[in-house]
Amino acid sequence: MESDAIRWISLNGEKNAATLNLVKGNNVYGEKLVKQGGEEYRIWDPFRSKLAASLKKGMKNMPIRNGTKVLYLGASTGTTVSHVSDIVGPGGIVFAVEPATRVARELIENVASKRKNVMPIIEDARRPQSYFSVFGKVDVVYCDIAQPDQTDIAISNCVAYLKKGGVMLLVIKTRSIDVTMDPRAVVAQEAARLEKNGFLIDQIINLEPFDKDHGMISCKYGT
Ligand code: SAM
Repeated sequence: MESDAIRWISLNGEKNAATLNLVKGNNVYGEKLVKQGGEEYRIWDPFRSKLAASLKKGMKNMPIRNGTKVLYLGASTGTTVSHVSDIVGPGGIVFAVEPATRVARELIENVASKRKNVMPIIEDARRPQSYFSVFGKVDVVYCDIAQPDQTDIAISNCVAYLKKGGVMLLVIKTRSIDVTMDPRAVVAQEAARLEKNGFLIDQIINLEPFDKDHGMISCKYGT
């Protein structure tokens, strides 16, 4: 998968995705900055970002592109949010939801204050009706909140904000849901729950070796 804002760059014999840096000269979490074709790219670490791991593991349809409007749940300090901000560019927007004030402060200081297309929302994703700054519907909902009821939370956010035909990317941390079950069975169970709620599964990606017992589900909403 390659677009103007995502490139595969070889570094120390490893091919990694990299994103076109929206804030020249600035890095967010110690990632390498690399010049190519007169442009600056930020190497996207698959061990630090499950979206980078998904690309590396063969995500077929990357729904985030130039101009995409994204609702991102579980923004944390903004590692992945910053790369999503690079990809959507000045014409897109990332509504970044994070309830933990300590990490949200870092998200604001290191990412949102430097990137006009990142709008921090210090709220719990269990209460989507409380995001007053989200306007209209979004193209993509990205959810990485590591909670036992993460699938239901993600669905309620899609019902409130995802346009029909939009895409949800849901990170499943299987141990947050059931430590005793086989991780693959947990992911399959959550995928079935999504199908019951009007989602069409596009792809399920096992994130090993980058993240143990994690899966990424890519699905389409309400088509
Ligand atoms: N997505 C981030 C990245 O790739 O840079 C990492 C996310 S981390 C695994 C999970 C985050 O979800 C934590 O920052 C946590 O505070 C947040 N979280 C947990 N419960 C949440 C909830 N109910 N609503 C929104 N965020 C939540």
